[in-house]
Amino acid sequence: MSVLVYIEADNGAVKKSSLEALTYAAKMNAGDVTALVTDKAENLEELGKYGVKTVLQVNDDKLSARPVSAIASAISAAAQKVGANTVVMSRSSTVDAAAPRVGVKMNATVASNVVALPQTDNGFVVRRGVFTGKAFADTKLEGENKVLTIAKNALAVEETGGSATIEAFTPDYGAKDFAVKVTDVKKQEGDILLPEADLVVSAGRGLKGPENWGMIEKLAKTLGAATACSKPVSDMDWRPHHEHVGQTGIKVAPSLYIAVGISGAIQHLAGVNSSKTIVVINKDSEAPFFKSADYGIVGDAFDVVPKLQAALEKAGV
Ligand code: FAD
Repeated sequence: MSVLVYIEADNGAVKKSSLEALTYAAKMNAGDVTALVTDKAENLEELGKYGVKTVLQVNDDKLSARPVSAIASAISAAAQKVGANTVVMSRSSTVDAAAPRVGVKMNATVASNVVALPQTDNGFVVRRGVFTGKAFADTKLEGENKVLTIAKNALAVEETGGSATIEAFTPDYGAKDFAVKVTDVKKQEGDILLPEADLVVSAGRGLKGPENWGMIEKLAKTLGAATACSKPVSDMDWRPHHEHVGQTGIKVAPSLYIAVGISGAIQHLAGVNSSKTIVVINKDSEAPFFKSADYGIVGDAFDVVPKLQAALEKAGV
């Protein structure tokens, strides 16, 4: 038995979520872990630190926009090459679309949004997040071949030491693998991408207007965090739409989510309730968000945020 992990990279660096998938695969103890990389990426031998024995690297410009059918072909071909019966990959827009295709090609059972390592006492059972993270479903997978997509931030990245061998790999593609073409990619601006962020500073309508976001951006910069917002804030064009988190926006699961002047409506919570630690700053002590908070500050954002900023600067953060 062995496990294949599909790796994604941005600007040459392997994504943190892919390292989480590697950690998951290593902890499964299901044999050798092989990584498949189709993006341009550097220092791939370092994936050995996360338990990878071999990295299969596909160098093909046609894959740079991650055409889903071709990526699925590459994944199933790599699994066949190394004799892997389990494919593990971290959720992303590419993976969400590729996983069912890989399942068909490998005649595998597929479990999406997995949040915990498998239980194997009675078959192969994985826990999945369902209903936008408000519930879990324990799901038994039968059959030899399995495809698992792992929820972001479901487990912490762990290093085990070691160095990986890199092998060039050229998969065969299907006749229609490149029939759908990505013609343009508009990347989110800013250093830290919100879905990948480990720290997030978010603000809502309590900030009164777009002119007041300076203190939120400053706090985020100090912490090395991404900025986010509630839906009405992006609807009113106070902030760009890619910052909107919640049921109808981006779902985040950072280590720390700081919510400033956000009431905590259920639709907002649906996008942030997997955060490890939630800090709420709101002047209304009855704001629903406090029920989901690990730490709460009842106070005016225009008073509390500058004080928090000053305290962080004093502490040398
Ligand atoms: P408000 O509800 O107006 O809350 C502002 C908060 O700021 C209040 O709690 C107030 O006490 C506090 N405040 C005011 N002044 C200050 C101050 N000076 N200092 C500190 N605190 C202050 N919303 C989302 O966010 N994401 C979604 O994905 C989403 N999807 C939706 C889908 C549907 C189908 C529907 C119906 C709604 C959806 N919503 C979503 C909207 C959601 O129901 C709420 O209306 C929205 O989240 C409220 O945004 P808010 O908390 O910024 O604003």
